[in-house]
Amino acid sequence: MTEPAKRTARRRRLPPVETGLRGRCPACGEGALFAGFLKFHDECEACGADFRDEDAGDGPAFFAMFAVCILIVPMALGFGMATNAPMWLTLLIWGPVLIAACLYLLRLLRGVMFNIAWQRSAREVRNKDVQQ
Ligand SMILES: [Zn+2]
Repeated sequence: MTEPAKRTARRRRLPPVETGLRGRCPACGEGALFAGFLKFHDECEACGADFRDEDAGDGPAFFAMFAVCILIVPMALGFGMATNAPMWLTLLIWGPVLIAACLYLLRLLRGVMFNIAWQRSAREVRNKDVQQ
């Protein structure tokens, strides 16, 4: 069995969206995935699964910004137009909402996309992977 096949074979198949949204380990579903607000642990505290080779990449940031731009920016603009509020007041009210929504979604999406990537052994190809 090749090394990538071994890596895939020993990985359990828990629902990555569920474990990701809960911020849990993709292998056991019990250990915490995050060491900080957005930083991943190096390995699972419960089962020892190695998290060092996988990363969520830029996808979570793209989807978080996309969702915020589609949902919250129109509400902020609508607030400004409906109340005829000055721009500084609109920014003062909606700026923190935008930032909080981005960070909240970023954490959720990082967890989900990390779990999907981990279960599928999707990672960057490194020099050692192509050298025999
Ligand atoms: Zn685990």
